[in-house]
Amino acid sequence: MKTALEYRDAWQLLVSTVLSAQTTDENVNKVAPKLFAEWPTPEDLANAPLEAVEQVVYSTGYYRQKAKSVVSLAADVVDKFGGEVPDSLDDLVTLRGVGRKTASVVLAEVWDRPAIAVDTHVKRVASRLGITAYTDPTKIEFHLKALLPKREWSGVSMRMIQFGRDVCDARKPRCGECPLADRCAYETKASDPG
Ligand code: SF4
Repeated sequence: MKTALEYRDAWQLLVSTVLSAQTTDENVNKVAPKLFAEWPTPEDLANAPLEAVEQVVYSTGYYRQKAKSVVSLAADVVDKFGGEVPDSLDDLVTLRGVGRKTASVVLAEVWDRPAIAVDTHVKRVASRLGITAYTDPTKIEFHLKALLPKREWSGVSMRMIQFGRDVCDARKPRCGECPLADRCAYETKASDPG
């Protein structure tokens, strides 16, 4: 299972993942092509006028912060890695605006590297199913890595995210139609109509 974000390479997925905070992937997919048409490479974006970037990313929300983030991200990719997105977690997290979650998305999606991205859906689903008692995303990531064989890592986040969206919704989990209901530890599921 793949992300719904559309991208051509690691650079585009990195930028789109930053833009996807607090908005839908669909929204990002409308905006990102304009951004990449205007400034195709990290070098181009690193030198782009901030106000012009703000205008392009405006509809994704938090546009000032996001414009700043993608421009400084571009500058870091150029300054630290010669314009090429690095393919290791330790290097990716040195880029401004890139945490373990974003780095793991890029590693798993683009290069099929063993990585587990823990976002709000993964966190919620893992907790409700009683898979982990941790609440810190990094601890959840390491716990999941300890539980699962390495070959499963790159696919597990997207499956959990999709399951969180389709079935185990944050506010209204559809417990009545959930295939995992009989092994779910979520305490309020019995009273939920699904
Ligand atoms: S039974 Fe309900 S709370 Fe448990 S995993 Fe399924 S949808 Fe989520």
